[in-house]
Amino acid sequence: MKVFISVDIEGISGIVDNTMTSRTQGDYEKGRALMVGDVNAAIEGILSVGPAEITVSDAHGGMNNINPEALHSDAILVRGRPKPQSQMAGVDKTFDAAMFIGYHSMKGTHLGILSHTYSGGNIESLHINDLEVGETAMNAGIAGYYGVPLVLVAGDLAVTKEAKALNPEIHTVATKEAISRVAAKCLHPQKSRGLIKAEAIRAIEDTENIKPFVFPPPVTYRIRFTDAKRADAASFMPSAKRLDGKTIIITQNDYIKAYHGFLAAVMCATSVS
Ligand SMILES: [Zn+2]
Repeated sequence: MKVFISVDIEGISGIVDNTMTSRTQGDYEKGRALMVGDVNAAIEGILSVGPAEITVSDAHGGMNNINPEALHSDAILVRGRPKPQSQMAGVDKTFDAAMFIGYHSMKGTHLGILSHTYSGGNIESLHINDLEVGETAMNAGIAGYYGVPLVLVAGDLAVTKEAKALNPEIHTVATKEAISRVAAKCLHPQKSRGLIKAEAIRAIEDTENIKPFVFPPPVTYRIRFTDAKRADAASFMPSAKRLDGKTIIITQNDYIKAYHGFLAAVMCATSVS
């Protein structure tokens, strides 16, 4: 069994605002410790089913949040940025299942803790083939491109609903329930780690029954930026077509090529922010 785990921070147990998610903030060390606690719970669940090769991809910010020594010693850690496939770096067709831990809902979600879509200050909305998506669908599409099913999503209640809307077969764990974008009712981390471990076991046992999530080609990314200057910069890319003041589209026959176009467009947009 080969399992790929992408780990973000906003959906991690106990985290409700940016004081624990950014390297420049005072409680960051607590946030990164909570992050590794949730991912280790998933790893323990996977390994309790049977032997497994596990790759963990650090998917937040600088992608260097997980302390290598704190991670379960049986997992390979992918860290650093920028890199191909970004939050999904390391996944390929040799994997049997993918899990997302600490994930959050798309930008603008009502009652979604720290809701945003990849780059909160730059992106107002993202559609792939006319489906409005957040990071869960976008990254599930990368796993799906390689024939790998997304079997477990853990994060706040809003992202679990977003995952179920993509595919009701996906197993989910809600670690907290938002009462605003930056406040939530949180389970104790020990409690949510127990739930993550238990659901990881069920998800691994159920893997053969869960279909990969695939965006059929040709793949169109429609990126609406937060202002026109960001779209101005992104539209310098030869593959980009300007739709309106704030929006560009990128169409490719290959999902990963389209996704990499998206990453490059976001880098262009960020350069003028
Ligand atoms: Zn993040």
